Parts: sequence; C-alpha cells; structure tokens
Amino acid sequence: MQHNNSERLHEEALKVIVGGVNSPSRSYKAVGGGAPVAMERGQGAYFFDVDGNQYIDYLAAYGPIITGHAHPHITKAITKAAETGVLYGTPTPHEVTFAKMLQEAIPSMEKVRFMNSGTEAVMTTIRVARAYTGRNKVIKFAGCYHGHSDPVLVAAGSGPSTLGTPDSAGVPAVIAADVITVPFNDPDAFKDAIEKWGAEIAAVLVEPIVGNFGIVEPIKGFLELINEYTHNAGALVIYDEVITAFRFTYGGAQDLLGVQPDLTALGKIIGGGLPIGAYGGKKEIMDKVAPVGPAYQAGTHAGNPASVLSGIACLEVLKQKGVYEHLDRLGALLEKGIAETAATHNMPITINRLKGALTVYFTNEKVMNYEQAENTDGELFGKFFKLMVEQGIMLAPSKYEAWFITIAHTEENIEATIHAVQNAFEALAKEL
Ligand code: PMP
Repeated sequence: MQHNNSERLHEEALKVIVGGVNSPSRSYKAVGGGAPVAMERGQGAYFFDVDGNQYIDYLAAYGPIITGHAHPHITKAITKAAETGVLYGTPTPHEVTFAKMLQEAIPSMEKVRFMNSGTEAVMTTIRVARAYTGRNKVIKFAGCYHGHSDPVLVAAGSGPSTLGTPDSAGVPAVIAADVITVPFNDPDAFKDAIEKWGAEIAAVLVEPIVGNFGIVEPIKGFLELINEYTHNAGALVIYDEVITAFRFTYGGAQDLLGVQPDLTALGKIIGGGLPIGAYGGKKEIMDKVAPVGPAYQAGTHAGNPASVLSGIACLEVLKQKGVYEHLDRLGALLEKGIAETAATHNMPITINRLKGALTVYFTNEKVMNYEQAENTDGELFGKFFKLMVEQGIMLAPSKYEAWFITIAHTEENIEATIHAVQNAFEALAKEL
C-alpha cells in the first residue's frame, strides 16, 4: 500500500500546523511514528485516503460517526441547514425539539444547555456543581479523559487517592490541587477519598462506562456506591457520557445501567458528526446557570442549527428498530473471531467489549483500571496497528483506544477484518 501523498501532506502540515495534527491523538507517535494516514472521503463503513486507498473504519472519528460516513438522512439535514442559514444568534425551534429528544432519552437531564464540544460540556458541569455546592474540590478517576479544560488535565501522585498535580504545562498547580484522582473500580480508594475530603467535595466526575483506556465497565455496585457516598457527603455526581451516550442503547449508559447522576455531559454522537456538546441535569441544579442563576456559561455557536439538525437526524436514525441489536451482533462476531485467531496463534490478548465497541489489549491480564491498561504491550500493538492499516483496516493509533462498529458495517466487513487480524497475528507470532 502506497502512502506517498499522506507522507507529503504530513511534511507540508508540519510547516503550518503544530505537530502536523489538530489533535495529539491523531499523531502516530504512540505507534512507532510515521506520517498519519490522511483521509479525503468517507462513505458508510469506509473511508478513502489521499493516495486512493480504501479502509474499513473502526475509528469512527473517535466515536461520533456511529451511523457511518455521509449517512443520507444526516446529509439531508446538514444540507437543509446550509440552505437556510447556519447561524442566527437567536433561539430556534430546532434546539427545543432537540432538547426534548435528549430529555426523553436521558430523563435525568431535566434541563439542558447546548455548546460546541465535550470539553466545554464537562468543564461547565464542574462549574455548575461548584456553584451549587459552594465547594471547590472534584474527585475524578485515573485514566478517564474529560476534555482539555484545566481542572481535568490532572494526574494523581502516588497512593490510592491523592491530590492532583498538573498533567499539562500551563495548568496552574492551584487548580490541580483541587482535583483528587482515584483508581477506577476501586471502592476502597473511593471511600478513602470521600472520608478524607468529603466536606470539601463539589462533585465526583466519572465516565459511567469508561471509553478512554479502552472499554471498561464498572464492577457491580461501583456506580451505586459512588452515588451513595457522594450524596452523603453533600456533593454531586457528574457522568461524562461524551463517549457513552447513544453508543450502547438509545439513551445514556445511565439508562442502560439504571443509575442516575445529578449532572450529565454529552458530545460526539449527539452532533451526528458536527461539533456539539451538551450538559444537563436536575432542574434545581441547572437553575444555577445564567440567565436564571449566577453560574456563567455562553457560546456564539451554541445550539447552532447545523449541529442541532444534524444531531436530530442522527438520533432519528438511532431510534430505528434493530440498530443496537445490529451493533451488538457484529461486535460479538468480531470479538469471537479475534479471540479464536488469538488462541490459534498464541497471541497474548484480552478483549473488553460492550455491544458495538471493543478494545483489544495486548496482555493476558484482565483490564479493569487505568494501570492495567497502561501495562499492556504498546510495542506489540504498534506493530499490529501498522499491519492492520496496510490491509485496509483503520484503528486508532493507541494501545487502548476502542474500536467502534457503526450501523453501516456489515458481516462481510467483520469477516474481512477477522481475516486481516489472522494475517497480522500470524506475522506477529513469528516475532514473539
Ligand atoms: N469526555 C470524554 C469521555 C471524551 O472521550 C472526550 C473526547 N474524547 C471529551 C470529554 C472531550 O470532548 P471533545 O473532544 O468534544 O472536546
């Protein structure tokens, strides 16, 4: 497979775009380097690069493209928005329709607000929780990514629950010091953090099903325990459902799992591929937001007709019968195929899957938290990644990113993917 044009483009990009990419996760740094494959066109389960190569897409743009590329219903909605003016700076009927759709699908979101990214959504839920409780500290879980606002770019020190230090240059230490990080799926560490800092905690922020160190489900009772201890401490529970909402069911992970937070942040899928974020929650908490309350949050493009109409169209597609059954069925097929070929070639892998999203970790160990995901074999994954790309299968260039199946994927796509995995494992097995 030739990548001459991708390589040339990367050289040009490096001159004008920092690192040659507009998001660090797109760089191939973590998989041994090289020019990232640049795409030109997407259609259904496929996209096509600038050298004319075709790929089955499991990246799905890091999640949003659950309908596949250029879905006709969404394309029609975006075209309508383009033809009728993309931004007014006034209320629109579309945003009311969309807010009602979200509220109906995720009932804990009694009131919502739209914005432009998941980062903004999470950042604002933290502000609202602080405004509501009059406290500053936040508990988050190691390895959960919540966008790039200051309070969530924080890493833990050593120990089961520790006050944070900045995880990025430019994040003030005083902001990080208000953030406590504990391991996911560790009830004792969480209880310990609440015991130590409970009276100062504004919110506990969690991905109810983790999507950022692979797909990791909470152990039984973990989310219930978070709710109980957080509420007893007088703090709020925030679910970051930027990845999870509408991924596993028509609604949030909270609806799938039957546990409700006080505030929820959304993004990705709800824009149908256009930029969007939203947050919402209990009415009395949301009433802290301007112009009703004292917590400020605003946006020139917030609720713009293009993103909202695209989002409505996306949810209409997802609401159709059989969508999540299709994702689950193909997910199960892919998992089975990869597991079988791994057994044949003695490849040390562990697969975490929930419905149409799965992660293939290069380890024999279970992966239930960030430390375990970090301890998987990145070098082996890097080689696997390149072998898959060369066979026209596009994954995220990260050892613990999820593979996302879309409704455009077919059984034939899954079979072709399993075949490519067989070839890759066969090649890798010779090196082990
Ligand atoms: N929260 C989660 C769980 C995410 O996965 C992401 C993005 N990967 C974000 C927040 C940030 O969203 P955005 O990139 O739209 O700002």
